[in-house]
Amino acid sequence: MLEVKGIKEGIVIDHIKAGNGLKLFNLLMLEYINCPIVLVMNVDSKNLEKKDIIKIEDKFDLDLDKLGLIDSNITVNIIKNNKVIDKKNVTIPKKVKGTFKCSNPRCITNSDDYISPSFKLIDSKGTPEYLCEYCEEITKYDGYLLNK
Ligand SMILES: [Zn+2]
Repeated sequence: MLEVKGIKEGIVIDHIKAGNGLKLFNLLMLEYINCPIVLVMNVDSKNLEKKDIIKIEDKFDLDLDKLGLIDSNITVNIIKNNKVIDKKNVTIPKKVKGTFKCSNPRCITNSDDYISPSFKLIDSKGTPEYLCEYCEEITKYDGYLLNK
């Protein structure tokens, strides 16, 4: 198996369902971060058949809610001096602001640059479903993100 050495200080995002690693990488905009980052894809896992792992060798503020949008089964390990000092679980966020677009093309959030789309979670089974707080359109989070 591909061996990736541990990190001294930083974050390991583990148990990412295979295929979601790249989505998370994009979501966290890791291409703009100037520190060592490893994205490992399709490695064997005890619990999942295959998984992805992301290691970030730096102090890094993670938006756990955003991670939950993509994959609520992942675990986030905070590493300091080569040891895991904290483990965080991720949940599907109840409220989301500015992360993705409302699916109603006539929604004010799609035409006005100053209004950030804002949603409330209404169904968390399968693909999370959100209710737009402006037009009440139900929007399924489809993996596309908005940077606004
Ligand atoms: Zn809307």
